[in-house]
Amino acid sequence: MLNEIERVLLTEEQLQEKILELGHTISEDYYDKNPLVICVLKGAAPFMSDLIKRVSIHIEMDFMAVSSYGTSTVSSGEVRIIKDLDASVEGRHVLIVEDIIDSGLTLNYLLDLLRRRKAESTKIITLLDKPHHRKVDLKPDYCGFEIPDEFVVGYGLDYAERYRNLPFIGVLKPEVYNR
Ligand code: 5GP
Ligand code: MG
Ligand code: MG
Repeated sequence: MLNEIERVLLTEEQLQEKILELGHTISEDYYDKNPLVICVLKGAAPFMSDLIKRVSIHIEMDFMAVSSYGTSTVSSGEVRIIKDLDASVEGRHVLIVEDIIDSGLTLNYLLDLLRRRKAESTKIITLLDKPHHRKVDLKPDYCGFEIPDEFVVGYGLDYAERYRNLPFIGVLKPEVYNR
């Protein structure tokens, strides 16, 4: 698997250092708010897992699975709910945890849904942001790293369901896509 990586964009150390920082900020901003922290599966699972361990206030967790990509590297613009939340968001301060924002279509849909379900507040934390590719006007409230418009894998992010288990963020060798 490691020999399929062209280069490392963000090391495990860089990721963990940033997540520690984000955890402190969330702890301050949500002090006394008992936020419902929603992980968007599957990509955000490693980030969610590491982030909540750096948050020092009471939170609750929930999970949602949506799909806009299938196995391709290009957004279809279509959002499908594969797994919905267990908890009601009505009156709750909701923090959505995402792996990466690209077109923004996925999160735009989720934000709209949670607002219609009467969340008290809705904010977004994303590990990665590719702001050059937006199709809708959307900015994360908290962001780990802005990255160039390249397809990345690792730390939750997949290509055809693989590479999610890499501890860093990297770029694949071109030949991997041509198989
Ligand atoms: P958006 O709806 O913002 O275009 O896309 C969001 C989703 O597309 C992400 O949650 C992720 O699943 C997928 N995605 C976008 N860019 C990348 C990328 O560079 N690498 C990988 N592996 N997935 C991406
Ligand atoms: Mg995602
Ligand atoms: Mg994917």
